[in-house]
Amino acid sequence: MIDARLALRKESKHRSLVRITDETVCGGKDLFIIGGPCSVESFAQMQEVAYKLSTAPVQALRGGVFKPRTSPYAFQGLGADGLSILKEIKKSSGLPVVSEVMSEEQVELMASYADVLQVGSRNMQNFELLKALGKVKLPVLLKRGLSATLEEFILAAEYLLSHGNDNVILCERGIRSFDKYTRNVLDLAAVVALRQITHLPVVVDPSHATGRRELIADLARAAVACGADGLMIECHPQPDVSVSDAQQAISLDDMVAIVDSLRPIALAVGRRVKVTKQALIDSNIDSQPNRYPSNQIDQPFASANRGWAGGR
Ligand code: PEP
Ligand code: MN
Repeated sequence: MIDARLALRKESKHRSLVRITDETVCGGKDLFIIGGPCSVESFAQMQEVAYKLSTAPVQALRGGVFKPRTSPYAFQGLGADGLSILKEIKKSSGLPVVSEVMSEEQVELMASYADVLQVGSRNMQNFELLKALGKVKLPVLLKRGLSATLEEFILAAEYLLSHGNDNVILCERGIRSFDKYTRNVLDLAAVVALRQITHLPVVVDPSHATGRRELIADLARAAVACGADGLMIECHPQPDVSVSDAQQAISLDDMVAIVDSLRPIALAVGRRVKVTKQALIDSNIDSQPNRYPSNQIDQPFASANRGWAGGR
């Protein structure tokens, strides 16, 4: 028995909607798709991301400004400069932004810039941070810890709920295992189980789950097929020069193509991908409902000798 009083589903129709903006909710019929780079790098970068992805269309942009990096010598994020970029981009694109909050001290600052506060894997059990976020009413995207059991994950969500924040989205982002071919193992069984055990929306992040861009399109589709309420995917105007997580970054064109390819799958499982007028014109989806992007964005085994995908 999991000692959770608020996160557990009471009956099969019990599902929570998390409101992101007046137009956008997570957990309803429409998929909640988040796209953007691992890290905010410059205004020009984010402007290009927002311009391209608003036609995808995605429902939110992502970009880290405080980055949890394995090495203290790796890029740590633009910090306050990154926040002003997010503010501008949010204003010009009208899209909500998702960004990571790393500590209790950052909560107030981040809450004044981001629409969804991301708690990274490394902080899933930072209980003081969770308690502080409980007091904020903004939606929280809680990522599964690196090796967290479902019970630990649900109890971390329970911290947010029991401290007053009902707006909790769970994010499956892969868990540690022995095989270094992929960065982590994407646990799609967890997506199905979490939606059965809890009433909270579940979003899948195939980027951190695999660490390999060539695996993302197919796993994004698999996630939607098994009932995920949304996706978070890292993409970049020039994926290879991304300052962090370059190997898993996909191009903006590939991101648009993936979103397009989700339509028939979403339909098959009673979901929908939002359509903008511009997207309809650009992709001509009426006449090509089954157009899939290539899953050979990068030849999987041609790049296999880069092998190690762990610990970035
Ligand atoms: C991220 O989303 O950029 C990130 C660091 O993810 P995770 O916490 O899942 O490693
Ligand atoms: Mn990343």
